[in-house]
Amino acid sequence: MRADLHVHSNYSNDGKPSPQEIVDRAVELGLGCVAITDHNSFEAYFDVKDNGRVIIVPAEEVSSAEGHILAYGIDREIPRGLSIEDTIAAIREAGGYAFAAHPYRWWSGLGEKNTVEHDFDGIEARNARSVPAANRRSERLAARIGKPISAGSDAHSLARIGTGYVEFPDGLETWQEVVRHLMEGDVRVGSKSRTRVTTLKYGTNSIIRWMLRGFKRM
Ligand SMILES: [Zn+2]
Ligand SMILES: [Zn+2]
Repeated sequence: MRADLHVHSNYSNDGKPSPQEIVDRAVELGLGCVAITDHNSFEAYFDVKDNGRVIIVPAEEVSSAEGHILAYGIDREIPRGLSIEDTIAAIREAGGYAFAAHPYRWWSGLGEKNTVEHDFDGIEARNARSVPAANRRSERLAARIGKPISAGSDAHSLARIGTGYVEFPDGLETWQEVVRHLMEGDVRVGSKSRTRVTTLKYGTNSIIRWMLRGFKRM
């Protein structure tokens, strides 16, 4: 069973598809599970959690003071802007697991030092919006420090859903089983990577969006 564990909906201010459209697209692609990881929002989960077609992992991409952290299996929204330590603590308090998102990404990643020095439950080893070298380094880092891995597309549009994925054993039926297998490392990951042209575009767009937000980081 394939799962895309990093997808943004229109509850993220830069995401386009509605949670329902994400579910429809996932079914079309044959994905068995999706984690809608909106920036600092946990709203999408309630729209689609009982859709009966695709397993939805309750999740969020939290903007900590130092970079993005993925929360899987939470039961409430995690506030933005906390230190890394306090963000991890808040995620655990909410019953969830904290994964370092795209650790090597300029701008919004935590960086290697923060990722290694904090007690993360896992590392996002593959992100389809990261450059190939960053994905290779993330995978190597996770292997070196012995942490569970996750992966996803980081899609902000319908077309990119499924471009990054975690492969689970077939037959899982609940998000709790998905998260348990994730934490047991009983998975394979795969993804596309960002090309050099789109990286340039991304850099420019990031700066423009940052200026439009009044110099507030996402
Ligand atoms: Zn991110
Ligand atoms: Zn993201």
